[in-house]
Amino acid sequence: MTLPISTSLAGKRGLVVGIANDSSIAAGCARAFAGAGAELAATYLNEKALRFVQPVTDAIGCKFLRPCDVRIPGQLENVFEQITREWGRLDFLLHAIAFAPADDLHGRVVDCSDTGFSLAMDISCHSFLRMAHLAEPLMTSGGCLLTVSFYGSERVVTHYNMMGPVKAALESAVRYAAVELGPKNIRANAISPGAIRTRAASGIAHFDELLAAEAAATPDRDLVSIEDVGALAAFLVSDGARRITGTIIPVDGGQHALA
Ligand code: NAD
Repeated sequence: MTLPISTSLAGKRGLVVGIANDSSIAAGCARAFAGAGAELAATYLNEKALRFVQPVTDAIGCKFLRPCDVRIPGQLENVFEQITREWGRLDFLLHAIAFAPADDLHGRVVDCSDTGFSLAMDISCHSFLRMAHLAEPLMTSGGCLLTVSFYGSERVVTHYNMMGPVKAALESAVRYAAVELGPKNIRANAISPGAIRTRAASGIAHFDELLAAEAAATPDRDLVSIEDVGALAAFLVSDGARRITGTIIPVDGGQHALA
């Protein structure tokens, strides 16, 4: 008799990057990971952010909390060094970070600046590859890399602007990471949620209109929550998803199915 494949995360250790506050997608995912039994490490952007991040991590018993601004040389590497020292291995990571300078984000894509585009790519896309590179030696028994995209990568979403091409690059990075790391049983996937009211989302012009349009266009007429994203994330990093890799998975109430 074959044993069922477990979706429990008991015994697994994961890193969560991207909690800004209680409403972050990464916060919903961290709660779902912890609820499924995982032990977590998490990061905060800077001292100013710490007081919003710590209540989230304290509530799920996460004792490993370190600063990480991917723009500061050495900080991301330092997080992985400490994971190596304390755990010696890593089973999964969630990359849930993005940034674009407001001036560039609010303008036309064809007008975006060299520095603005490079910064958005560096923080929102290349940091995923850096994390994959640093995680590889720690994922000795395989593992899962997870990031968060948006359907503005595939189709033009009004006001999503420069983040469209950046998310398209991120999705491509997921596919290449999945193929390159597949022989080591390291999987890579992206979740593509519908619009959710978070701090990063508030930087997108007319975000309320996007939310209203999404609610009207979604088959069940409802919006996605960070708990919905967390439930999918917890499944994807579990052994139950061991054959799922190189994929961009929508959690958008079926909106992607509509023309
Ligand atoms: P959020 O503001 O809660 O999280 C964004 C995170 O990015 C923050 O924790 C912030 O500290 C981090 N970040 C920004 N610059 C950083 C840097 N230099 N170094 C390290 N971290 C940095 O917003 P969110 O909506 O939860 O965003 C998480 C991810 O979800 C992003 O990739 C976003 O594009 C994606 N996403 C969001 C939505 C949405 O509607 N909210 C939809 C689809 C995808």
